[in-house]
Amino acid sequence: MRHRVVIVGAGSAGLSVAARLRRAGEDDVVLVDPATWHYYQPLWTLVGAGVVPIAQSRRRQAALVPQGVAWVRDAVVDLDPDRHVVVTAGGGRIGYEVLVCCPGLELAVDLVPGLSEAMAGPAASTNYTAELAPKTAELVRRFRGGRALFCAPGSPIKCPGAPQKAAYLACDQWRRRGVLGDAEVTYATGAGGIFGVPEFARVLEGVVERYGIATRFSSELVEVDPERRAATFETVGPEGKQRTSLDYDLLWAAPPQRAPGFVRDSPLASAGEYGWVPVDRHSLVHQRYPEVFALGDVCDAPTSKTGAAIRRQAPVVTENVVATLSGREPLARYDGYAACPFTTALNKMVLAEFDYSLSPRPSVPFIDTKRERYDMWLLKRYGLPAFYWNVMLKGLG
Ligand SMILES: Cc1cc2nc3c(=O)[nH]c(=O)nc-3n(C[C@H](O)[C@H](O)[C@H](O)COP(=O)(O)OP(=O)(O)OC[C@H]3O[C@@H](n4cnc5c(N)ncnc54)[C@H](O)[C@@H]3O)c2cc1C
Repeated sequence: MRHRVVIVGAGSAGLSVAARLRRAGEDDVVLVDPATWHYYQPLWTLVGAGVVPIAQSRRRQAALVPQGVAWVRDAVVDLDPDRHVVVTAGGGRIGYEVLVCCPGLELAVDLVPGLSEAMAGPAASTNYTAELAPKTAELVRRFRGGRALFCAPGSPIKCPGAPQKAAYLACDQWRRRGVLGDAEVTYATGAGGIFGVPEFARVLEGVVERYGIATRFSSELVEVDPERRAATFETVGPEGKQRTSLDYDLLWAAPPQRAPGFVRDSPLASAGEYGWVPVDRHSLVHQRYPEVFALGDVCDAPTSKTGAAIRRQAPVVTENVVATLSGREPLARYDGYAACPFTTALNKMVLAEFDYSLSPRPSVPFIDTKRERYDMWLLKRYGLPAFYWNVMLKGLG
């Protein structure tokens, strides 16, 4: 059985594209996804800060699948783009004219020995899973001073700003409780600086200074010893690789991330270690298979892996899928737009919007979002979730 469009993954990207294709009149669209729950992951930053309960980030997948779109509730285990077929765990073979590949990414916790054990223990957490984000809130609440370590890898991860947001929101709670003075807070990242867009980097440097956070750049977390509560970092400098160990009382880490295994093992993946799906960065068409599109976290478009990027990618993919189905050139272009809402305090946010040129791209030009603002915090806390559920996932904006 061959469908006109098969979408692998009904996350932020898959649901947005499915809804848009329905609105464009496509009546043979199939979503394949095994999940019972859909999460609005940007709220996990606020879950980790103890501001929002995890249940607020979650809706039943069944309630979100657009009317008129078929949902195959099964996991894809194999992609066969030469035969135009995807294979599911239940043994289903689903044929397609056009494939939209958007199953997100997987956390590669195994790439950092000891990290998984540390996170299972009493002193380490992350906001990158629904299970652990509430634990972050608990660890931050219980912290009475000592060494707090926030870590991010240098390789691409979703919402690359999330690790520093976790640090800022923890510091603000400790400041309010009067324990920040007894804390030694470090932000260590494999990246070369605080943020790639200079206009926003300057503001964030001020936030780091305000909280007294020590920064370590080009420092990759490579090992954790949960017994000793020590984290080892590798730095590549002029004298080659060097390793440094830091003790911690609280460890927060964003694990390295990569394409899901069934994508990495398929002909759709790129050759690199992380197996992202290679696309033309503007049309989002696969570099080798013209009837395959990829968007969202799984694709290798050189921008920040965010829901904000997907909001601009989804209309482009929809238009180009419709063009491909009718034998026309895929002419719609994505400009690399992404946004990172930096929650710098429990009531403040800096909204960084930018594109492939890495220059600011404000959506509302007369609001200076380079400043820390209370109205932007309200946008993050209330406006963006409402927009996500009611507008973006319905293909309306
Ligand atoms: C802590 C945190 C904070 C964030 N903050 C922000 C923010 O402030 N702003 C922002 O814009 N973005 C933010 N993001 C990033 C944003 O949530 C992601 O970029 C976005 O959800 C990616 O959408 P996606 O559709 O690519 O993947 P997902 O939304 O993760 O969906 C992937 C879907 O694929 C399905 N799937 C997986 N494997 C299979 C399979 N084998 N077969 C079929 N289906 C499969 C999954 O069940 C899932 O439904 C944040 C993320 C995190 C974790």
